[in-house]
Amino acid sequence: MTEGKEKKAYPADMMEKLVSLCKRRGFIYQGSEIYGGLAGTYDYGPLGTALKNNIKNLWWRMFVDGRDDMYGMDAAILMNPRVWETTGHVAGFADPLVECTKCKKRFRADQLEDRTKCPACGGTTGAERQFNMMLSTRVGAMEDSSSISYLRPETAQGMFVNFKNVVDSFHPKMPFGMGQVGKAFRNEITPRDFIFRLRELEQMEIEYFVKESDWSRAFEEWRVAMNTWIDVVGIDRARVHEVEIEDRAHYSKRTIDFEFDYPFGQKELYGLAYRTDFDLSRHSEASKVDLSYRDEEAGEKFMPHVIEPSFGLDRTMLAVLLSAYTEDTMGDSPREYLKFHPCVAPIKAAISPLLKNKPELVEKAREVYAMLKKEIPQIMWDDNGNVGKRYRRQDEIGTPFCIVIDFDTLGETPEHKDTVTVRDRDTGTQQRLQISELTNYLKNAIF
Ligand code: ATP
Repeated sequence: MTEGKEKKAYPADMMEKLVSLCKRRGFIYQGSEIYGGLAGTYDYGPLGTALKNNIKNLWWRMFVDGRDDMYGMDAAILMNPRVWETTGHVAGFADPLVECTKCKKRFRADQLEDRTKCPACGGTTGAERQFNMMLSTRVGAMEDSSSISYLRPETAQGMFVNFKNVVDSFHPKMPFGMGQVGKAFRNEITPRDFIFRLRELEQMEIEYFVKESDWSRAFEEWRVAMNTWIDVVGIDRARVHEVEIEDRAHYSKRTIDFEFDYPFGQKELYGLAYRTDFDLSRHSEASKVDLSYRDEEAGEKFMPHVIEPSFGLDRTMLAVLLSAYTEDTMGDSPREYLKFHPCVAPIKAAISPLLKNKPELVEKAREVYAMLKKEIPQIMWDDNGNVGKRYRRQDEIGTPFCIVIDFDTLGETPEHKDTVTVRDRDTGTQQRLQISELTNYLKNAIF
């Protein structure tokens, strides 16, 4: 999928630069930072939250609201532990772990170059064992084993266990799917690489139910849809690779991973799996509730098979940020900026008066700001420093447009009365637009 597009090289120290920008400008902070952090957790700040919400909303619009065959879900994070016994997670959701006999640090064995050698102190590692990644917790007042539950390691099961509920409420025709966005938790042995490998993460998942004979058509349809998403959200296509997975999860008959060139290597971004009828059959058997589908028109009853496109939201954030990150020189000054697609940019436009000590300019700019804010909430008032500095600051957070109200707006040059300058983030070019055209201009450019 990479033909025809040139791959941009990352600047040196890319991750350090990105982590620093994300912290400085309020995108992403280390979790519980004032207490020294908590490994595998990050907190999204005001701009990170806006970016994340924009990505989620775009995904929801594209894959749930925008389709006739999809049903949205928001299932509980805590589920009956029998769910995870049935799916095999309690027994087998594990990564291989080794511990250094000298410094006692623990590592994921399959991520080491030499499984017998400690990468921290050079000591020898002990025997490899399987480490279950489910985070357990206790539910209710009892402190015995009956109170143990798990924080879900994937959102998928919340959809399988509600399959019958959705069928009974909506009587959907096959094929149809369910989509869900939500938190999942994995006790990763070595969380690392910023928001790439987290212990608390967010997923956007789809379970698409088909007749067995239809699985390869649906698989291909979702493969194409996932590629469309990659373009729409602003992930650099030249850095994405589709990889056919041979060493698949136990339930899958075909899996493609969408891998991304991160600065720390080519690794998984998304997965697309044909999960067969594994989950519904196992839940039917274990719960004694018949989860097969009855097609009244065709007069048949069968266990649906499942195609699962799975999107990690945090990895989407990382890939979008890395794809947007750009360094260039504008005029003679170097700049570092985020070239977000306008539809995901946390701030769509910044509005400012040319000079903040001129009340007549401020008043007019406030008027324009109030008018736009009503229609496009993600706009910002910015009157700090001079205009050049404002542009740089807005570029750095990926604001596609800066709008300036100047003396021409007030009628100093009569032919420019009631116009403003609109400056483009990527090219730095400016144009004058009528105030009355602004809302439509921005809406067209953004959505
Ligand atoms: P990996 O091989 O990188 O551990 P996985 O194959 O276990 O990932 P899946 O179980 O397929 O991942 O999860 C679906 C998606 O959830 C992944 O494609 C990824 O985007 C995201 N994801 C999984 N684990 C993490 C994690 N620890 N931190 C952030 N995102 C994750």
